[in-house]
Amino acid sequence: MKRIIILATGGTIAGIGEPGKTTGYVPGSLDASEIVGGLPGLKDASVETIQICNINSDDITAPIWIRMARVINEMAADADGFVVMHGTDTMEETAYFLHLTVKTDKPVVLTGAMKPASSISADGPGNLYQALRAAASDCLKGLGVTVVFSGRIYSARYVTKKSTYDNGAIDAGEMGALGIIRDEEILIYNRPAGRHTIETDFDVSGAGDLPKVFISYFYAESDAGILAYAAAKSEGIVIAGAGAGEYSMAFKQVIERLDIPVVISSRINFGPVTKGSLLLPDTIAAGNLTPQKAAVLLRLALMTTKDKAKIREYFEEY
Ligand code: ASP
Repeated sequence: MKRIIILATGGTIAGIGEPGKTTGYVPGSLDASEIVGGLPGLKDASVETIQICNINSDDITAPIWIRMARVINEMAADADGFVVMHGTDTMEETAYFLHLTVKTDKPVVLTGAMKPASSISADGPGNLYQALRAAASDCLKGLGVTVVFSGRIYSARYVTKKSTYDNGAIDAGEMGALGIIRDEEILIYNRPAGRHTIETDFDVSGAGDLPKVFISYFYAESDAGILAYAAAKSEGIVIAGAGAGEYSMAFKQVIERLDIPVVISSRINFGPVTKGSLLLPDTIAAGNLTPQKAAVLLRLALMTTKDKAKIREYFEEY
């Protein structure tokens, strides 16, 4: 028998509202044990639940991420796999944080739902059941942290939320899924690039929180004054630039005077910001990390170093 541990954090998968409706519900209303109790048992695995918190994922914080990483790291030797039940809004950030900080090659699988448990055709039970099957299988060993959603398995490195309502809202765009899952069959077609889990430099075992960073979204005529505010409030800035990471002359004049690290990503969901497309050589290209994932990596990087060259290296390797 395999031993699978569920870390539950809330979200729509634990949401309850007016029967049948898909809006106006309260995320994080059910305990993990109530949700798991409604599923068919797995033949080959026992399931235990740990309620980390029971909240809307928009309220997730770095101390909660750190607690999750610690629980996984401390239990990894005695468990065969982990499932993290999570709201879909910030699932990609938690997944990427865990991808960079858990020290195990065993499956760590996030899942959630787009429809609350009280709605018609709630997608949570199906997603959770598939996530448990994935966590109990040997197929995901060494692939880093994954997200199982709507029958597909995604790498934490590429996964993002692309729709406000659709059951297939979780996706990895042109980077694609790692594989698919149908009942007991798990078919893996791809492997994630970049260093992760046991290969990373990031150790959060002694950390209580992460350094603060600020994401500044660029749009036509955006006020560059926001950057001075961002620099005063944080240790690093991520720009969600236009196109391949571009911004106005007004932004440029402020950015070139900042001495904290500035990472350039794009407000466009897919495609990289490369070294060659940077307007200022002292800034750091986010590659194909979304602004919100670039913020996760920058926070972890700043926990270990303030050196821009080292931080640039992390963005090239992770
Ligand atoms: N607001 C919810 C959350 O992220 C949305 C969801 O879970 O789908 O917790």
